[in-house]
Parts: sequence; structure tokens; C-alpha cells
Amino acid sequence: MIEVSGDKLNLRRLILLLCLFTAFITLINAFYSMYRVQRELIIANTLASNQVYAEKMAEMTDAFLTSALNQLAFSAAVLSDKIADPELLLAETERLKKQTDSFNSVVVVNADGVIKAIAPQTLPVTGIALTGVNSLQSLTAQKPLITDPFVSPAGNYITSISYPIFSASGHYQGFVSGTIYLEQENMLATLLGKHSYRDGSYLYVVDHNRTLIYHPDHRRIGQVITKNAAINAVARGESGHIETLNVFGTEMLAGYAPVKQSGWGIVAQKPRAEALMVLDDQLLQVVWQSIPIGIVTLIIIWISAIFISKPLWQLASAVKKLESDSSLMDEMKLVKPWYFEAAHLKQSFLRAFGVASNTIDRLQSDSLTDAMTGLLNRRGLEKSIESFTVRQMPFSVLALDLDYFKKVNDTYGHDAGDELLREVSSLMKQQAREQDIVCRAGGEEFILLLSNTHIARAYEVAERIRASVANHSFTMVPAITISIGVAYWSAGDEAIESVMKKADMALYQAKHNGRNRTEMSDC
Ligand code: GH3
Ligand code: MG
Ligand code: MG
Repeated sequence: MIEVSGDKLNLRRLILLLCLFTAFITLINAFYSMYRVQRELIIANTLASNQVYAEKMAEMTDAFLTSALNQLAFSAAVLSDKIADPELLLAETERLKKQTDSFNSVVVVNADGVIKAIAPQTLPVTGIALTGVNSLQSLTAQKPLITDPFVSPAGNYITSISYPIFSASGHYQGFVSGTIYLEQENMLATLLGKHSYRDGSYLYVVDHNRTLIYHPDHRRIGQVITKNAAINAVARGESGHIETLNVFGTEMLAGYAPVKQSGWGIVAQKPRAEALMVLDDQLLQVVWQSIPIGIVTLIIIWISAIFISKPLWQLASAVKKLESDSSLMDEMKLVKPWYFEAAHLKQSFLRAFGVASNTIDRLQSDSLTDAMTGLLNRRGLEKSIESFTVRQMPFSVLALDLDYFKKVNDTYGHDAGDELLREVSSLMKQQAREQDIVCRAGGEEFILLLSNTHIARAYEVAERIRASVANHSFTMVPAITISIGVAYWSAGDEAIESVMKKADMALYQAKHNGRNRTEMSDC
């Protein structure tokens, strides 16, 4: 396509750029909106699913604790009034430890706080009296209890689930308790840990003092966490979800739920960045999937841009060519504008250009024509000579002058003289051929250019004209004669001026030789 507008943008490129820009902005906007919506959705879903998960785990822990208490209740009933029977105590602790597998150890403590039996027996604590507030929690409570974590006499960090033993008469005789070694393999950890690190999420358990009693990272068990919003809420007995920071400053999506029976809280959480990782993949997939449609759209835009800009481009290039070659109007007429603006532009342009070129034609012919006779004037003559020389067309020149014309004016008046000039002009026009040039050179002098006519033939034509004038009956004048000088231009290098001069000289000769005659230049 030819560049119509030089270094300026053309319409096609403008349309293309505009469409590309719009498509780009729309796509970015769509991607961004999708990203935002998906992101919110993923965060909300993760929070909700973590809460559901924490609630499920809390229920499971509750069920585990209920079952543990039931087992202990059964043992407490068996041991009622038998606290002094060491063999029975030992057998019962062994049974409980082995049968249920719920506890790391099972212990029976009498009403004085002295350990009477323990399973497994490998622990050398039988006969030791409990000390310390936490160790004595179960003793002082005298009711079913899940204790706060404490360090056992054997040196383990434990929580204990205890059930009081009463005699048949209702006297408190001590308690039987199952312990959970919080820092080692235990039933609770097995229960909760089964599901930990589920797709990057994990859970932990705190007691009502916000002490970690279960965490996948064992080193953290026993730590008291005070600045975690999820832990604070679950420690208050609430369930819910929250976006929070963990101790390392990582943003977390946490769901939490309390374990009613123990006052513990379970928190299930997932790093936000990990939850959102799936979003990057999704977005990438969307981008990949949009590429074929995007390419097709671009091609459609490109073709449309060509179609839209084509009529205007054709008009513009026709106008540009018109500046140098007016025959290209026809080319402009061939432009097929298929939409309103281009069609009207074409029509208006053709109309405007038509008016302009008619005016130019009229002005041009006015400036080349003699108003009185309708023959060419001197400028017209010059143009014609120019055309003959350009085409290297040989021609003869006839220089004509009315004889004694002054007398006509003097005798019959100037108007009669003018009328005579017009009549002589039309006589000359009649005698000349289509391709000959008839011109009023000024006053009552005329010049004829006979194209492609040798001097001998030109002489004959001159004589015919002279005779036709001499024999003509004019309206206002009785008779008039003319004298003619003839010269010949054979094309080539000879200067036209000198040929014109020769014709003038021949005319002068004709006047001199008595007028009403034709003389040839001796070329
Ligand atoms: P000759 O050519 O035979 O020597 O004599 P002539 O009388 O024709 O002499 P000349 O050519 O010198 O005179 C030209 C006269 O033509 C002078 C002027 O009065 C007259 N003339 C020139 N132009 C016009 C015109 O437009 N209308 C009229 N009516 N007369 C004109
Ligand atoms: Mg004269
Ligand atoms: Mg004269």
C-alpha cells in the first residue's frame, strides 16, 4: 500500500492501533478482574474449609476424650474399694494401657497423692507422691478432669485424663488416669497428624492457656502463643476463621474451633501464598487458552481496518495524483466507497472538482480567444505554435491583412468595420480545415497555421481564401480585398520566429505588389 500521508499515520494504522489498544486494555482489565474475583473466592473457600476442618477435628478430639473418660470411668468402677490391692491395680492399669492404646501410660493414685500402680511398669514411679500444682490438679478436683499440661514425675511433658475413684460408701479413694505424652508419639497426635500437611495446610492444638499441646513441629509443643488472633479467639471458646500472621510473620488463612470438653482449641491453617499458587496456574491457563481467539480477533481487526480505510485511502491517493494529472478523475470515479462518509466524500469531491475544472477550462479558453471574432488571439496562437513544435509537426503560415481597411472605417464607421472583421473571420474559418489554426493577430491582421501542409499547397489555400473574400458580398460594405504572405516551417531546428517574420515579409511584398494578392516567402 502506498503511503499517502508521508510520515503521518494513515487511517488503517490508526484503526489498528486503536483496536489493539482497546483489546489490550480490555484483556488486562478482564484478567485483572478475574484474578481479583478468583483470589477472593479462593481465600474465602480456604478460610471456610479450614474452619470446617478445625470443627471436624474438634469433634473427633471430643469423641476421643469422651471415649477415654468412659474407659477410665469403667476402671474407676472396677477399682472402687480395691485401692489397697496392688495386684488388681497393676492388672487394671496394664489392661487399660494395652487394651485401648489411647494412653501413653495409665496410673492409679490414692487419696494421699501417692502413685500406687503404673503401666507400663518400666516407669520407676510407683510409691512416689505427687507434688506441684499441675500434678495435683486431678487429686484436688475429685471429678473427671483433663489437666493442663505439666511435667510428670518421670520427666515427660504430659496431659492427664483422670477419673476419680470412690468407695461404695462414697469416700474419695484417689483417681485413675491415662496420660498423653505431648512431645512423643501419642494417640491424639496420631489422630490429628493423619491429616496434617494436607495440601500445605496443617493444624495445631492449644489449651485454654494458649499453650501449644499439639503441633506438627514437636519442638514447638509447650510454647505459649499470645499474639495470634486465631489462638486468642479459640481460647475464648469461639469458632470461626481469620486471616492472620503466624509467629514467623507469614500470612495465614486460619479456621479454628474449640474442643468443648477440654477447653482446647484446634486451629487449621494454610499459608495464603500457597493457597493462591493455584491462581497463578489458572491465570496462565486462561492466557494460553485466549491466545488462539486473540490471534483470530487480531486478524479480523486487521482485515476490517483494511476494508474501512480502503475507500478513503483510494480517494486520498486519487486526490494526490490529481494534483499532477487531471485525467485521473476517471480513476477517482472507480473508487467504490461502501459506507456513508466515504461515499459522500467522493461525491462532494467529484462535484467540487468538476466545478473547479469547468471554471478553469472556461477561464483558459477565455484567455486564448478573441472576444469579437471568436478566433484564437495571440496567446492562443502561441499555445498552438508550442503544440506544433512539441509534436514536430510541419506547418505553413498565412499572414493576412485587409487592404485599405482604414478607409472602410472612415467611410462606413467603426461598427461597420467590426462587422466586416467578423464576416472575414467566418469566411477564413470556413476555408480552413479542422486541424488548422485560425487566429486574429491584432487589428485587421490574421494568421493561419495549416498543419502538415507544404508551402505550395498553402499558397493554393491562401488564394482560395483571398478569392472567397474578394468575391463575397458583405452586409455593410460593398467589397474588400485581402493580401496574404505565405511561409513554411519544416520542423527541425529552424526558429518559429523567423518563419513568422518571413510570412510578414511576404505579406509586405503582397501589399507592395498592389494588394489583393498572395506572395510566398522564398524559403
Ligand atoms: P493597408 O493595410 O492596405 O496598407 O491599409 P490599411 O488602411 O488597412 O492600413 P493599416 O493596416 O495600417 O490600418 C489598420 C486600420 O485598421 C487602423 C484601424 O483604424 C483599423 N482597425 C484596427 N483594429 C480595428 C478594429 O478592431 N475595428 C475596426 N473597425 N477597425 C480597426
Ligand atoms: Mg494592417
Ligand atoms: Mg490593412
